Amino acid sequence: MNVLDGERMAGRLEAAGATRASDPLAADVVIFNTCAVREKSEHKVYSALGLLARRKQERPELVIGVTGCVAQVSGDEILERAPWVDFVLGTGQVESIAATVARVRQERRRLSVLELPQDSPSYAFREIRRDSSFHAYLTVIEGCDQFCTFCIVPFTRGRERSRRSGEILTEAAELVANGYTEITLLGQTVNAYRDPEDSSGLGSLLRRCAAIPGLRRLRFITSHPNFLDEGILEAMASGPPVAPFLHMPAQSGSDAVLYRMKRRYDAAGYLEKLIQARRAVPELAVSSDFIVGFPGETDADFEATLALLREARFDSIFAFRYSPRPGTASARWGREKQVPEALSGERLSRLLALQNEIQAEHNRGLEGRAFEVLVEGKDPHGNLRGRTPCNRVVQVEEAAAAPGSYLWATVTRGLPNSLTARRTARPSAA
Ligand code: SAM
Ligand code: SF4
Repeated sequence: MNVLDGERMAGRLEAAGATRASDPLAADVVIFNTCAVREKSEHKVYSALGLLARRKQERPELVIGVTGCVAQVSGDEILERAPWVDFVLGTGQVESIAATVARVRQERRRLSVLELPQDSPSYAFREIRRDSSFHAYLTVIEGCDQFCTFCIVPFTRGRERSRRSGEILTEAAELVANGYTEITLLGQTVNAYRDPEDSSGLGSLLRRCAAIPGLRRLRFITSHPNFLDEGILEAMASGPPVAPFLHMPAQSGSDAVLYRMKRRYDAAGYLEKLIQARRAVPELAVSSDFIVGFPGETDADFEATLALLREARFDSIFAFRYSPRPGTASARWGREKQVPEALSGERLSRLLALQNEIQAEHNRGLEGRAFEVLVEGKDPHGNLRGRTPCNRVVQVEEAAAAPGSYLWATVTRGLPNSLTARRTARPSAA
C-alpha cells in the first residue's frame, strides 16, 4: 500500500511538472513516505530526517515533506521535533501532494494536511507513475474497522471504505490494455470488500476482473480469516488468471493470545478456514503473519503457535517481534505483561527455524515439477528471477528473457527460501 501511495504521489508530482532527481541530495523536493506498523520503521524516519537538517540550512528553498502512516499519527510531533520539515501529509491526502508542495513554495509556511476522508476512495489512476511495466497494485478497499489490540492501522488509515467496482474494473482494464499482465488487489482486509453500489463482495470482483482478456495473474492481499467466504474460494478455484495464493495472517496459535489480540477467531477456527480453502482451491499456496512476544504470551502460548505452524504447514510466513504502538489497546497494558526482548527474540528465532524446516520439505517436494514463471529480473549471479503463480520465488539458470515475460521452468532444486529451475517447454497438459 505504501509502494502504491509512493507511485501515486510520483505521478501527481510529474503531472504538475516535476521530474525525478537522479541524486536525492540534489533534489529540490524530498518526500519521506513512511510506515508506522512497527516502532523500528518509525525510528528510521527520524534518523533519515536528521541527515537533511544541515542540507536545509545550506539550501533554505529545499522542500522537505513527510507522508504516510507516521505523518498521519505523529504529524504535529514531526513538525515540532524537526523544524526543517516543511509539510506533513496523511494517508488520505495522497491526491493533494502536488498542490501541497506548490502551496509550501508560494505561501512560504509549514503545512499539516492530515484529514482522513470518510468517503469511498477514488483516485487519479491514469496519473500513477508505476515502477513496474508489467505488475500493478490496485486499491479496492482502504482503512480497517477491526481494531486488533496491537495494530496502528485503523488509526493511520482510518475507517474501512470500499472503492466502487466500476472504477476498479476501468482501472484494471486500462492496465491490461497498457501491457500489465499481473494485478494485485490491495486492502488491509481486502476480503471485507463490499461494492458501495450493490454490496457484492471480493469473490464477485475477482470474477469480473478475471474476465478481462489479457490479464494473466490476479492476486489480492491481505485476507482476514473471518472474511474468507465461499464466493472468494469459488473465484480462486476457477483458476487462471486468479492465482492460487492466499495470504491469511494467523498472528498466533494460542486461543488466549488471539482473544487478547481481538482477532475474533481461535486456532481451531483458523485451521478450519485453511482446510476449507485448500479443499476448494487445487495447488493453493498459503502464507501467514505471526507476532511473537505479544504482552502476556507464556511459553505454553508460544508452543501453541509452533503447534499451529506444524499443522498448517504454510508455504511461507512473515514473523515479527511485538512492537508496542501508540494509541493501540495493548500499548496501554501494564509493564508486567511485557515479554522481555531477549525472550521474544529467542521465540522469533525458534519460529523461523521451524518454518525453515517446513519450507525446505515443501520446496524439495517440488523438484521435478514444471511451473509458469513471470520473469521479474536477474539475481546477482546472472540467473533469471521470477515467481510461480503460487508466488514462490524461482531462479531460472542461464535463461535469457525480458522482465515481464513468461516462461516455463522445471524445478531442479528446492531450497528453504527459493527454487532453482531450468527452462523447459510448456507441458502439453498446461
Ligand atoms: N490487515 C492484516 C491482517 O489483519 O492480518 C495485517 C496488516 S499489518 C500492516 C501487517 C502485519 O504486521 C500484521 O499481520 C502483523 O503480523 C504485523 N504487525 C502489526 N502490528 C504489529 C505490532 N504492533 N508489532 C509487531 N507486528 C505487528
Ligand atoms: Fe491491523 Fe489487520 Fe487487525 Fe486491521 S485487521 S487492525 S489492519 S491487523
